[in-house]
Amino acid sequence: MDLIRPYMFEKRTFELMGRAIDLAGKSRGAPVGALLSGPGGEVVCEAFNDKSSPFLHAEAIALRGAEKKLGKSDFRECTLFCTLEPCAMCAGAGLLFKVGRIVFGAWDPLAGACGSVWDIPRDAPGGWKIEVVGGFRGEECSKILSDAFAGIR
Ligand SMILES: [Zn+2]
Repeated sequence: MDLIRPYMFEKRTFELMGRAIDLAGKSRGAPVGALLSGPGGEVVCEAFNDKSSPFLHAEAIALRGAEKKLGKSDFRECTLFCTLEPCAMCAGAGLLFKVGRIVFGAWDPLAGACGSVWDIPRDAPGGWKIEVVGGFRGEECSKILSDAFAGIR
């Protein structure tokens, strides 16, 4: 079976994570930004955390927004960028949407589900698997979170 996936590191990968970092700053609650990019590196949908509901993680909002925008729920040619390692819910959503790749910044050793605590994108014995690139611009992404929590204390 031929899988059509985005090219490893689209030309705009660095900028796309930069955009996710900008989005993180708009969050309500923990600063996390996410966006879904298309096969040409174009932004399909972007989002940031909304603490009004645990369902409203940046990644989940971006996927839902992309589904509405594209009118489909198969994102194998797309990359999900997130500033923080996706949680179990968001990584699971990534599988349901058949996301081609997840690129995330900061590792989350307490609740990360893309290699830290669990590895949901790659653990399922059957079905879809997502290519994962972790720690991309990770120091910058970690700093957003540590700065925010330092401010709260
Ligand atoms: Zn999540």
